[in-house]
Amino acid sequence: MTVHLDELTWVELDQRVRDGPPVVILPAGSLEQHGPHLPLGTDRFMPARLAERIAERIGALVAPALPYGYKSQPKSGGGNHFPGCASLDATTYIHMVRDIICDLARHGLTRIVLFDGHMENQWFLTEASDLALRALRAEGVEGTRIVKLGYWTFITPETEAALFPDGLLSWELEHAAVMETSCMLHLCPDLVRRDLIPDGPPADFPPYDVYPADTGSIPPTGVLSSATGASAEKGRIVVAQVVPDIAAALDTAFQSDQQG
Ligand code: ZN
Ligand code: MN
Repeated sequence: MTVHLDELTWVELDQRVRDGPPVVILPAGSLEQHGPHLPLGTDRFMPARLAERIAERIGALVAPALPYGYKSQPKSGGGNHFPGCASLDATTYIHMVRDIICDLARHGLTRIVLFDGHMENQWFLTEASDLALRALRAEGVEGTRIVKLGYWTFITPETEAALFPDGLLSWELEHAAVMETSCMLHLCPDLVRRDLIPDGPPADFPPYDVYPADTGSIPPTGVLSSATGASAEKGRIVVAQVVPDIAAALDTAFQSDQQG
């Protein structure tokens, strides 16, 4: 049986809910520059591929991944001014996610995972969860539990050491760099332009933000630190570690839900 929610019929979904509602994983991506070597949809492809593997392990369903996210920020995504970035205002994004959560829960899918692939989404996913729970409670829909996570937070020190033998600079400067490039080489190899993987010094940002963004401080490639250390093997190591760890964490998070 498929793990993809949108490949089921309503009759099949209804039966799944009656049998004991499955966890639904909603991958949250972005359309954002990822250097000259990775596709604009990287932040969607990554959580969507990981979610499929996690869903197979825990009997979850994967909802259609969100292809747009909150605006790319210079220090974590290079910035929204690069060609191809198309993003949502925070209020639009919050309301879109709130509406999806509410409708899933109204139909009995009350165990929802917001699976973030784009750092800039994170607090707006929190706000969407809060507004959804408030609306559902007002309607009398009880028992909804939402788990929010970014897959990168599951990377253990051992995996981090395998990715960065010389030490990690910072996760924010990893945009389109070693971790994402390695995982894409493993998960979506045909989408990586291997001959264009960029080198160069890490971005040097001041300890404050400026609006409008000072685009002169952003590396022209859009990559915030060198990606030349990336490899498909490193990507395999990350995926092999985070998939079972996230699956186990979700089992725990929703098990405690059932107990009390
Ligand atoms: Zn990314
Ligand atoms: Mn991103």
